[in-house]
Parts: sequence; C-alpha cells; structure tokens
Amino acid sequence: MKSVECCFYPDVTDEEIRKEKEKARKLRATRWWRQKKAQGICYYCGRRFKPSELTMDHIVPLIRGGKSVKSNIVVACKECNNKKKYMLPIEWNEYINHLKEGNKLK
Ligand SMILES: [Zn+2]
Repeated sequence: MKSVECCFYPDVTDEEIRKEKEKARKLRATRWWRQKKAQGICYYCGRRFKPSELTMDHIVPLIRGGKSVKSNIVVACKECNNKKKYMLPIEWNEYINHLKEGNKLK
C-alpha cells in the first residue's frame, strides 16, 4: 500500500471530481473490475465477501487529488469503505495497522 501521507490538500475542482467519478463509473462496467470483484477479497481487511457486497474504493480519495485509474482503485467491503470515508487519514492508518496485527495473531 502506497503512503498517502501528505501535508497539503491539492486544489481539486468540482469539475475534475465529476470527471473522475465518470471515469470510475465506466471502469465499473469493465471486465477488469468484474474480475477484481469476483476474487471476493477486500483490499483493506483481506476478508472474503460475495461480489455483491464489495464496492469500489479510491486509495487516494478524489477530493485529495486521486484519480480514477486502475492503480488507484481497489475492491473494498462496505464496512471498510464506510470507515475510510469517515475517518481521518491518520485514524484510517491506525485501523489498517490494527487489522494487519490481527491477521498476524491468527
Ligand atoms: Zn474490508
């Protein structure tokens, strides 16, 4: 996972976000995306889900200058996606580290 730590927020216009959302919508219709979902594994927590329970997530959020490109798009379960949305990046990193430690203990 790439570090997205950054001390400034790039200026992203509504127009740019709208374009990236449109690109994400198109990517959802591709074979590439269907195959990713068919693997059934959440990128963040590593648990298995039904494809219908998985959502598309941008590693670097659009609002922070992330793009709708394959390298910035991952499969996430709804739980992780919701948590990521409402957490600060630092809180999110802590959550991910907890998950990784939890996996080691198993
Ligand atoms: Zn997850």
